[in-house]
Amino acid sequence: MLRHVTSVTIIIGGVDAVVKRLIAGNWKMFGLRSACNELEKLQNMMTPRDAERADVLICPPPTLLTTLTDRYGEGPILFGGQDCHPLEYGAFTGDVSAEQLKDAGATHCIVGHSERRQGYSETNTLVRRKAEAAHRAGLVPIVCVGETRGERVVCQASQVVIAQIEASMPTTSGEVVVAYEPIWAVGTGVIPDNETLEEMLSAIRETVGGDRRILYGGSVKPHNAAHIFSVPQVNGALIGGASLKAEDFYGIIAA
Ligand code: PEP
Repeated sequence: MLRHVTSVTIIIGGVDAVVKRLIAGNWKMFGLRSACNELEKLQNMMTPRDAERADVLICPPPTLLTTLTDRYGEGPILFGGQDCHPLEYGAFTGDVSAEQLKDAGATHCIVGHSERRQGYSETNTLVRRKAEAAHRAGLVPIVCVGETRGERVVCQASQVVIAQIEASMPTTSGEVVVAYEPIWAVGTGVIPDNETLEEMLSAIRETVGGDRRILYGGSVKPHNAAHIFSVPQVNGALIGGASLKAEDFYGIIAA
């Protein structure tokens, strides 16, 4: 059986050393029980070398989490939530707590995805509280940040992203992953050029310090993954659309 290593992040003296990539899939509100077939296929495609090179994470809708962790939790793939409530429990119809995700077998939880910041008016403070809730439950928060096209056009991109990080990173101790997801790249098929990516990731690295994985997210596909991973500051990817099909997701894992 393939086993995963949950956390290997080594950055020495500000220089990236051997950093195990995190390849994370966000299924969003896609996937019925039949989507388990894709997990079966993905697991069968993964080799021990893939599991050594990268931690592979799938964040399915909460309806599928227990089914997937029961069936595949002993394999090489990790599972996570897409969001969590800042509190442990309570009368919050429709919400899910970090403790419930942990209990369902999750190891990570995405917080502050742009679809939640924009669609549900989530503030940096709320995102920070969610990240802290994830820590309290024993999960690794994946804190998403990213600028709009308008903010980029007026040369505010790094300022906006740094401000988001400063206000939404948890104050609790524990592993944190930062996902830089320019909003204009999410679901659009457009990706930043290498110069932009390097500039943004360097600014993020300076803000978060040397010991955190920084992912890039936004239209990562099998055909552009190697190009994105060639940027030295990129420690992995957060993937939406291309995580739904085993062949596509595996193409990114293997890149
Ligand atoms: C995302 O939703 O986090 C994302 C990066 O989506 P996509 O890969 O489809 O652009």
